[in-house]
Amino acid sequence: MDSLRRHAPVGNDVIWHARRLHGAGLVAVGTCKPMGPPDAEGRAPCSAAWHPRPCDRAGKRPLLADYPRWAARGPSFADVESSLRVWAPCNLALVAVGVLVVIEADSPDADAELASLGGAELASAPAREARSGRGRAYVFRAPPGVNVPNGARRGTSGAVDVRGTGGLLVVPPSRHVSGHVYAWLPGRAVGDCAAGGARRTALAARAADSQASACTHGSGRRRHGRRLDHRRG
Ligand SMILES: [Zn+2]
Repeated sequence: MDSLRRHAPVGNDVIWHARRLHGAGLVAVGTCKPMGPPDAEGRAPCSAAWHPRPCDRAGKRPLLADYPRWAARGPSFADVESSLRVWAPCNLALVAVGVLVVIEADSPDADAELASLGGAELASAPAREARSGRGRAYVFRAPPGVNVPNGARRGTSGAVDVRGTGGLLVVPPSRHVSGHVYAWLPGRAVGDCAAGGARRTALAARAADSQASACTHGSGRRRHGRRLDHRRG
C-alpha cells in the first residue's frame, strides 16, 4: 500500500483495530500513548510532544483537538489511517457520535449495577474487558431521537460513566498508564457483535442517570468522597 511506504509503521495493530471499527460504522481517533510508568498522581510521559510533561491524562488525551466535529463528518478510513500513522505510536479511542453511546463501569459494583439494568441486551453488546479493580465498558446504539446525556459517576454505585456525543472510549490495542493493555471480551469486540440492544440500552443509560439524580437528594456523597454531579434540567 502506498500509505505504508509513505509513513512510518505504527508498530502495533492500532490500524487493524481502527479499520475494524470503521467497518462497523464507527469512528476512532488517536489518543496519546503512555511512554513510562506513572508518578504518584497518575501522570506519565506520553507520546505527544505537545502534551504537558508529564501528561496528566496519558493514554487518554485525544490527538485531534476538534475530534467531535471531525468524527461527526464521518471521515474516510484513509483519513483515519493517515492520522494514526502521523501520530504513531499512539493509543486508539472510539468516538461516541450520532446515536452511539458508551457506558463504562468504573468499579465491580458498577458492573453489577449495569448488568441488572441492561439485562440480556447488555450481556450481548460489544464490551471492553475490565482492568483490575474496575468494570467493563459497553458500546450501544441509542434509538434515533433519544438523547443520552454525558454523565460521570452516575448510578447507585457512583461509578457509572455514560458518554454520548463527543465522548471517548479508549479501546484495544491501547495501553493504560498502569501498563494494562485493553482488550475486548472474547467474541464481544465491535465487529463481532452488533452495537445494538437499542431500546434496553437507552433505558439502561437513562436509569443509570436518574438513579444518580435520586442519590443526589440522599447522602449527596459518593464512595471515595466524590461529589455527585447534579443533573441538568
Ligand atoms: Zn498525553
